[in-house]
Amino acid sequence: MSEKAYHQIVVVGGGAGGLSVAARLIHEGKCKDVAIIEPSDSHYYQPMWTLVGGGIVDRETTVKPMKELIPEGAQWIRDAVTEFYPEENLVRTRDARDISYDYLVVAPGIQLDWQKIKGLPEAMGHDGVCSNYSYETVTSTWETIRNFKGGTALFTFPNTPIKCAGAPQKIMYLAEEYFRRSGVRNKSRVIYMCANPSIFAVKKYADALVNQAVKPRGIETRFKHNLVEINAAAKEAIFTNLDTQEDVVVNYEMIHVTPPMSAPDFIKQSPLAGAGGWVDVDKDTLRHVRYPNVFSLGDASSLPTSKTAAAVRAEGPVLVANLLAAMKGGKPAARYDGYTSCPLVTGYGKVILAEFDYNLNPRETFPFDQAKERYSMYLLKRYVLPVIYWKGLVKGHKWPRLGL
Ligand SMILES: Cc1cc2nc3c(=O)[nH]c(=O)nc-3n(C[C@H](O)[C@H](O)[C@H](O)COP(=O)(O)OP(=O)(O)OC[C@H]3O[C@@H](n4cnc5c(N)ncnc54)[C@H](O)[C@@H]3O)c2cc1C
Repeated sequence: MSEKAYHQIVVVGGGAGGLSVAARLIHEGKCKDVAIIEPSDSHYYQPMWTLVGGGIVDRETTVKPMKELIPEGAQWIRDAVTEFYPEENLVRTRDARDISYDYLVVAPGIQLDWQKIKGLPEAMGHDGVCSNYSYETVTSTWETIRNFKGGTALFTFPNTPIKCAGAPQKIMYLAEEYFRRSGVRNKSRVIYMCANPSIFAVKKYADALVNQAVKPRGIETRFKHNLVEINAAAKEAIFTNLDTQEDVVVNYEMIHVTPPMSAPDFIKQSPLAGAGGWVDVDKDTLRHVRYPNVFSLGDASSLPTSKTAAAVRAEGPVLVANLLAAMKGGKPAARYDGYTSCPLVTGYGKVILAEFDYNLNPRETFPFDQAKERYSMYLLKRYVLPVIYWKGLVKGHKWPRLGL
């Protein structure tokens, strides 16, 4: 028999999106009955994993106990949602609780599909195979880079949407610089193996990356190549050439893998899903297209922008304004313009701060050309953005929109 409960607002997920929205609903909206359903004991500042993989900061600085971050006034239900019944305003959880609501906010993040690459789960974390994409694997990246003695270093980007589309190449630039410092660069090849047709979706920043980082540093690029298998014993990575559908085998000494990703299975299988399995929301208002009391933001949503914490920072206030309007019987009036950002770390002490919108038009914050590599933007990434994240974003306070 399932246990029953009701909350006026139920938030699914205590990540960047869920915590920031819950906190704002309590502070701004004076909402008194907000529950967050979140299974994890820990909350991770994932944007810092790039610098962990580059040996700049310790992994432990990126994690905080969930209990310290749940906003005062919200109830934490330590459980995972498994099913949605939006016609009945109800979610079911792993522990067989049925929880009903008046309003639902869905923010469970994106799913990492490691198993979709044959041989990857077994190979991950040793013999030159590493990834910045999880707390469990991120230290393997720095160990691998540090111990690299020359040969071929591969950095992959999969054939799916991913969170932080810049991260697969940021770690490559750090590794390449480290190889020069450690004296092994002249006996190595650094190759970006990317399923996309270009290095970055926004032309201004793509040109900047090619001209300031890729070409002058002798980095090779192979686009439209999708990793499908790792043969760890032979140190072979097998890619599909997306133009010809032929297999391309590349031998490596190290490979940094960005795994394929998708909407979480329990979202894909639910009535909330739309095309591609994402929570089907209106791109301007963040309100569900079929269930008007359901909203979504962040990586699990269908919002057609680059999936980042910086995007969550811009989405949260719009979602909250529209949810509060709906509670008062009004129409959603706040609009999200697709703002997202990516601090493209191009070396130890260098960042190109990309900021752009739905139309892939740059939306820069600072009064200088952000497409230029800058030390000041590195300091922002290293020291300022973590403070904005921990003290601003997840606490639901007002902060400027900036890369996170
Ligand atoms: C290597 C790396 C580098 C990145 N770099 C940047 C960067 O430089 N700048 C930037 O802005 N962003 C960056 N990001 C992306 C950023 O971290 C995400 O876009 C952001 O965290 C998305 O927020 P979210 O709330 O949608 O998901 P998350 O923050 O991932 O939170 C999802 C939460 O939902 C919970 N959950 C999962 N399943 C369930 C369930 N069944 N029921 C209830 N809860 C559930 C999870 O436990 C988790 O706490 C990076 C990410 C990575 C991995």
